[in-house]
Amino acid sequence: MRAMVLRQPRTPLVPEERGEPEPGPGEVRLRVLACAVCRTDLHVVDGELPDTRLPVVPGHEIVGEVEALGPGVTALRPGERVGVPWLGHACGHCPYCAGGHENLCDAPGFTGHTRDGGFATHVLAEAAFCLPLRGQAADPVQLAPLLCAGLIGWRCLRAAGDEARVLGLYGFGAAAHLVAQVALRQGREVYAFTRAGDTAAQDFARALGATWAGASDEPPPRPLDAAILFAPVGELVPQALRAVRKGGRVVCGGIHMSDIPAFPYRLLWEERQVVSVANLTRRDGLEFLREVAATPLRVETRVYPLAQANQALDDLRAGRLQGAAVLVP
Ligand SMILES: [Zn+2]
Ligand SMILES: [Zn+2]
Repeated sequence: MRAMVLRQPRTPLVPEERGEPEPGPGEVRLRVLACAVCRTDLHVVDGELPDTRLPVVPGHEIVGEVEALGPGVTALRPGERVGVPWLGHACGHCPYCAGGHENLCDAPGFTGHTRDGGFATHVLAEAAFCLPLRGQAADPVQLAPLLCAGLIGWRCLRAAGDEARVLGLYGFGAAAHLVAQVALRQGREVYAFTRAGDTAAQDFARALGATWAGASDEPPPRPLDAAILFAPVGELVPQALRAVRKGGRVVCGGIHMSDIPAFPYRLLWEERQVVSVANLTRRDGLEFLREVAATPLRVETRVYPLAQANQALDDLRAGRLQGAAVLVP
């Protein structure tokens, strides 16, 4: 197999040839069909997350075909197509798992962070954490971005609450362009905030149906019920608090963010809330995939060969992408 490997933080991924891994108990080996590139992969590569296992193969938006079954796997069949998301393992017995919050598990495994991920031709995954892709769009490139950008967007939208009819999205990239479509379908209004001067992203947001698009430091034309932050920029928290109405909620959707600057209490006053969304549960995955199977989303992608993973990461870092980068072996 071939893999793009992170050996040390803040160094380019290195191509490696390896023997095909043998699936252990409960695991499957997948042939990777496509793997999307997420901002979290940048945080892994840049050494911004604790506990990254090194060396590691990044990538946690994997569409793969089951190639070999480990001992005890009965739920999957060779040839079946599945998705592998960020949550690659949960212990099943800590208080969080027991309470239905496996996204907060005390002993989790994360694909492309503490387990090898999908920037490769093959990957091992726990069968119980693979998401079925039956009934989904045929093109694995179209499906891959759903497995984190789509899924985390979905969890953020739920955290924003059903009463959030006027919704702001800060950072209009892979996740926002998907969640915007779901929100619009649900009859919400979408206000898109981008880096100042990023007219391409603003035009893209309007083309997808956003009511308004502008720079993140601009006040929206009306107060927001809730805002979701996808850009990893701490300054956006007080800016978004300024934009939401009394009782409004600011949802931080990223795994990492630069420091949040001090801000006057009056921005939080009147029962405004700041919350974060961490990881995902398998239930989120199943719910979201059911939602998009019924009415597929328009998924904007740019395809890179696996060997150009570093280029894809650079383009994401520099904001040169519209939608999602997807690696294809
Ligand atoms: Zn647990
Ligand atoms: Zn991700």
